[in-house]
Amino acid sequence: MSSPASPEPLAAERPSIARIYDYFLGGFNNFAVDRAAAERLRALAPDTPEIMRANRAFLRRAVEFLLDRGVDQFLDLGSGLPTAGNVHEVAQERDPAARVVYVDNDPVVVAHSAALLRDNPRATAIQADVRQPEAILAHPTVRRLLDLDRPLAVLLVAVLHFVADDRAAARAVAALRSRLAPGGYLVIAHGTDEGLPPDLLAEGQQVYTRAASPFRARPRAQVARFFRGLDLVEPGVVYAPRWRPDGPDERFFDQPARSRNLAGVGRKP
Ligand code: SAM
Repeated sequence: MSSPASPEPLAAERPSIARIYDYFLGGFNNFAVDRAAAERLRALAPDTPEIMRANRAFLRRAVEFLLDRGVDQFLDLGSGLPTAGNVHEVAQERDPAARVVYVDNDPVVVAHSAALLRDNPRATAIQADVRQPEAILAHPTVRRLLDLDRPLAVLLVAVLHFVADDRAAARAVAALRSRLAPGGYLVIAHGTDEGLPPDLLAEGQQVYTRAASPFRARPRAQVARFFRGLDLVEPGVVYAPRWRPDGPDERFFDQPARSRNLAGVGRKP
């Protein structure tokens, strides 16, 4: 599904979050500088590729859960490069009328996503920053494809930990939450420092700082606060592999803390 990226000198000078992730998920949209950063992460934390796959598996399960609940509109923030198992693929396979808007602040991600979706009238990608939720919600493409007065799902999967400023993250999520219509959902997966040796965390953070996006792992209580005012869907905020797993074969099922990733889904009452 991924196609080789056109070499962009500027984009290739610095590792990018999206391309590091793409590399670990087996995609082709990455450069030498991304692969080097990815390998530094893997050397620090050998679980990294599996952590990313477990995150992606949570994303799929959450979208399937939402489809089961009748949700047919998705606003996917920090959507990443098109890789197998994109939200629109999962959603439109079940409900061809489902609508998806992808949002990312990385222009390479947006260009690739838009090209992939050229012939898909119900899914598209826009470039915006999650720290500016008002601009996203007012964006003409969002307004054209999504009906904000009906329930929709806002996905913040593996993106909020790249918003290092706690207040900016809380403010962005609060604005998104408050715009949800009753019956709408908020989905979050977020890297956590729970139980992580501080030196390992610091070294891992350095890799992302070089990628121009400091990484901010957050403790469980802080991740749970993002759902303020929403009804948390069972089983609440848990390690991603334990969020409604398909079965005991789920990656890290027996050692969920190894996922380093907390996940939850909240519903607007
Ligand atoms: N959500 C997808 C998933 O979980 O499979 C992709 C996650 S990927 C690890 C994180 C994405 O967030 C990257 O594509 C990156 O460009 C994007 N991102 C990082 N900071 C962002 C910001 N402030 N606003 C929008 N997107 C951002």
